[in-house]
Amino acid sequence: MKIGVPKEIKNNESRVGMTPAGVLELAKRGHEVFVQSTAGDNSGFLDEDYAASGAVLLPTIEELYARSEMIVKVKEPIEKEYSLIKEDQVIFTYFHFASNRGLTEAMIQNKAVCIAYETVQDALGGLPLLTPMSEVAGRMAIQQGAKYLEKPVKGKGLLLGGVPGVRPGKVLILGAGTVGIQAAKMAAGLGAQVTIMDISMDRLRHVNNIMPSHVVTEFSNEYNIRKHIKTHDLIIGAVLNAGARAPKLISRDMLKEMEPGTVIVDVAVDQGGCMETSRPTSHENPVYIIDDVVHYCVANMPGAVPHTSTLALTNVTLPYILKLVESGWKDACSKDAALAKGLNIVKGKIVFAPIAEAFGWEE
Ligand code: NAD
Repeated sequence: MKIGVPKEIKNNESRVGMTPAGVLELAKRGHEVFVQSTAGDNSGFLDEDYAASGAVLLPTIEELYARSEMIVKVKEPIEKEYSLIKEDQVIFTYFHFASNRGLTEAMIQNKAVCIAYETVQDALGGLPLLTPMSEVAGRMAIQQGAKYLEKPVKGKGLLLGGVPGVRPGKVLILGAGTVGIQAAKMAAGLGAQVTIMDISMDRLRHVNNIMPSHVVTEFSNEYNIRKHIKTHDLIIGAVLNAGARAPKLISRDMLKEMEPGTVIVDVAVDQGGCMETSRPTSHENPVYIIDDVVHYCVANMPGAVPHTSTLALTNVTLPYILKLVESGWKDACSKDAALAKGLNIVKGKIVFAPIAEAFGWEE
């Protein structure tokens, strides 16, 4: 099969859909891989690395789309790419259709086969192509939070790990899912005292079983949250109600209960955020301050570490790509139920009901 890897053209997107290691796996199975020149530069993968793995470098995005039967990328196609996508072409990427009507209409019109990373779902309900980005964001949340606790950026002026004779910082994590557990692991590794909350007893039991004793679990309710925000230095928002906006667990009035210089990292901001005062920020301008509380609310945290994020993403996409190229999308989806859940729009028809529901369209 002919597979194309374009350079991402969405603003501030530095990841790339395939690494040279992925190209090698496809090339040695006899597939032809086209990579747009400089596509991997920002992730640390150079044209010569791709060429050495067997890729054919193409100078323009137009030529790449024209010559490929399947496109592997990272972000949803943006308007400039709509007209490049052809009937029957397989597009494997993050789409997030339900929040983008224009994209949905364009992908219906061009009659492509759109397989969305974010809806590939395993038998246990897990989302294997979203998990790595949550892992990156969870770990990064502590790195960023620790930085913004420093005085020059209006934090408390506190070293998260403390030093001998001085207590370490306290980290409160709301949500014990993928983001929350990775954040807890990093905070615990730094020596911070960690409280992690969830409404799922199963999640709390799991955390309790795997974490060291300075990571304390507590049930998530308003009473407990009000109690802990008074004493914790760094608060991480890591909740998710699948398919819905994040619940608001910290209201504006609660900021007054926190000590000045407390830092909030609301990772859940991409689902609306779990603090009433959260609003999305960018890597260029990541923080703002309300009532002396520093808010870090970057909606695409993994974008700041494209090398790690690209490797983490492609580790999980490649096995599906290999299935798709081996026998075509129809056969691959009939054999793999998880992959089949990724089918969103197929040759002009929406096949993933929540998209039609999001726009109030009859099926
Ligand atoms: P997850 O489903 O693995 O975990 C979410 C957890 O929240 C679950 O354990 C759930 O029980 C818990 N929860 C639900 N309601 C709660 C409540 N009221 N109090 C406490 N816990 C509650 O999800 P995840 O993969 O960890 O993702 C968490 C959030 O991070 C999502 O909104 C996701 O979109 C977001 N995210 C953001 C970025 C970014 O760059 N900002 C990157 C990756 C993920």
